[in-house]
Amino acid sequence: MALLEVKDLRVESEDGTEIVRGASLTVDEGEIVDLIGPNGSGKSTLAKTIVGCSGYEVVEGEVRFKGRDITDLPMYERARMGLTMSWQEPARFEGLTVGEYLSVCTDDEDWARRCLRIVGLDPEEYWDRECGENLSGGERKRVELAAVMAMRPDLVILDEPDAGLDMSSMEDLAKVIETMREEGSAVLLITHNRDLAEQVGDRAYLMMDGKIVDEGDPKDVVLKCLMCGGGLVCGAE
Ligand code: ADP
Ligand code: MG
Ligand code: MG
Repeated sequence: MALLEVKDLRVESEDGTEIVRGASLTVDEGEIVDLIGPNGSGKSTLAKTIVGCSGYEVVEGEVRFKGRDITDLPMYERARMGLTMSWQEPARFEGLTVGEYLSVCTDDEDWARRCLRIVGLDPEEYWDRECGENLSGGERKRVELAAVMAMRPDLVILDEPDAGLDMSSMEDLAKVIETMREEGSAVLLITHNRDLAEQVGDRAYLMMDGKIVDEGDPKDVVLKCLMCGGGLVCGAE
């Protein structure tokens, strides 16, 4: 049984626009799976639907997690089951310190501090910093990655963790994602970064125009994506 199973999913936005037009995919326990495809193909919408964000309506198909149909489950219940996501645009938490934010994700402060170190932030320097405007976009992205790592979810969806990240090389981000796996998380990785997709992915899916159109070895799917004008980049941006 797959950890996550998305079956023939069709999703509309509130105004009735069909965005996901037939998507099926699976993620197994401990697996790292890439989801690539051109901008506007529906990757973020698919991800938000899987974690249960409001504003989208499933008009066909289902989402199964740990064998259970979660299509109609509220987001917090999916989170409780071990399903979480990091956002393409990380949230700002004015008035909350990094340490307070991470303490919502885990009771284990030593582990939370280790997570900060793994994403390249010195806990001594960042624990008491405020989580809002005074952090750069790249720093907030790192805090967000540390937060989802700290939760040790069974499945985490990372929506373009490389976008706007000031990590000098994709090696660092690859290490972060591998650590999530070592800590027991399966990962669905949405990225435009070819090196990252090829380096960490066990398998890959290609999404185009609302549909999953290919699945296989990341190198093959990356090539297919490039042939279809899939807007991939190499290395650090
Ligand atoms: P991707 O993440 O692959 O870039 P998105 O899922 O963000 O793609 O968007 C897919 C398409 O759906 C885009 O054309 C986008 O403008 C549209 N879209 C996304 N969210 C909404 C929404 N809430 N209402 C209407 N259209 C939307
Ligand atoms: Mg995009
Ligand atoms: Mg997106």
